[in-house]
Amino acid sequence: MVICKPCLFGGSSTHFFVMNKATSQHSILHVYAHPDDESFGNPATFTLYANQGVRMGLLTLTRGEAGLTNGVCRPDELGDVREKELKDACRVLGVKDITLWNYPDGGLKSIDDSRILPRIEEFIRNFSPDVVVTYGEDGVTGHPDHIAVSGWVTKAFHRLVRKIPDAAPKRLYHRISPVKRRGLYNRSDLVYRDDYTTIIDGRSFPHARLKAHECHRSQKQVTDYTQPGVFEAGLVDYYVRQYPVWRGGPHEADLFGDSHHVDETGLP
Ligand SMILES: [Zn+2]
Repeated sequence: MVICKPCLFGGSSTHFFVMNKATSQHSILHVYAHPDDESFGNPATFTLYANQGVRMGLLTLTRGEAGLTNGVCRPDELGDVREKELKDACRVLGVKDITLWNYPDGGLKSIDDSRILPRIEEFIRNFSPDVVVTYGEDGVTGHPDHIAVSGWVTKAFHRLVRKIPDAAPKRLYHRISPVKRRGLYNRSDLVYRDDYTTIIDGRSFPHARLKAHECHRSQKQVTDYTQPGVFEAGLVDYYVRQYPVWRGGPHEADLFGDSHHVDETGLP
């Protein structure tokens, strides 16, 4: 059953907070490469579903030790610092189930599939989520680590569907950056595309995003998220549904397959 209640955002526009059918019995597992991908990537999705009681999990494959220190610590301390930053950010976003692996930051693409794919597959199987989320095959930013993770997670997901069809996760989503953001972000590294199938509107939870960003003190932000248009856009996340295969039709407004469809009028 879909229950909508009106709320005000920013004093100038009205939108609807959608109570979809997600419950505490549902779970979403995100798989990303670096600490901060959750906070700069799709923090609104994390916050929205965590507030509905959904079990939120995050598997991050590296400790981000190859990043910039931004004057926060010595380079050799960065892995430890970023691990703490990740845990702090997850507390803000409502992610209670965090797993951090220690693969080399910047070196994922050199890892052989046969070494890591079974481990990711086993992790997903043990976590047993309803929904798996990772980057689009372009890595969203084109980062080689992101592209590697997207490929592994997608392969692992489909292996599970073949091996244990009744117990495998039900849905796989790739996060992408929509074309309409091109002029807004002015970032040449982002890969913009228009084949999204699913839009998650997290504007009902505007404050967690900046708090989560602030946790990642060692990572300098490329985009000024305090700008009004940029801030609002970062609260709406776009995905391509990979599984079940998208057959067309109105865009989804939910990662759990609610029949509610999103009204895109005015969406950033
Ligand atoms: Zn990253």
